[in-house]
Amino acid sequence: MGAILHALKKELPGPETDIIPNIEVPHKQTSSSSHDDIHIEGIGHLLTHIANCCKPVPGDAIIGYVTQSQGVNIHRKDCNNILENSTLKHERIINVSWGEKTNERYTLDLIIEAYDRHGLVRDITQLFTTEHVALLGLNCTLNKKERTAYVHAAIQVPHLELLSRLVGKIQQIPDVLSVKRNS
Ligand SMILES: [Zn+2]
Repeated sequence: MGAILHALKKELPGPETDIIPNIEVPHKQTSSSSHDDIHIEGIGHLLTHIANCCKPVPGDAIIGYVTQSQGVNIHRKDCNNILENSTLKHERIINVSWGEKTNERYTLDLIIEAYDRHGLVRDITQLFTTEHVALLGLNCTLNKKERTAYVHAAIQVPHLELLSRLVGKIQQIPDVLSVKRNS
């Protein structure tokens, strides 16, 4: 494995970019070190990182991308950085899957569009509290002309199932127009 990484060092950097600005996410929590929660087919234990661009959670279809210096970045299979990146080296894509035992918390971003009204952000944050979802950062942008609000929320969930349930409940909050997972 040392030899593989050494050989990759001379190549171009990987396609990692962080898409959402303005949200304070503790660095350590998004790019933590080794995960036993990821199973890499055919290879032994490799250092893995959850990719910042698409932030997969258990339940998402995932792939691994071998980086030049950081082990394997774990992306969602539908990540735009994987699908639309022309500098991507296909030989570096490897099959990975979620392990039996996953962690309690995976960070991701939600973008909630709603008609702006008093108490909107309060309703959203209250829902996170009642659903026991950890909120890492929240940023609200108003469009005064359209009277809409865009709420960016950085949250942590244990798996896709809880995320889907959460999204369903956010959609039921009055005046919410759409809820999207950022990527
Ligand atoms: Zn990605």
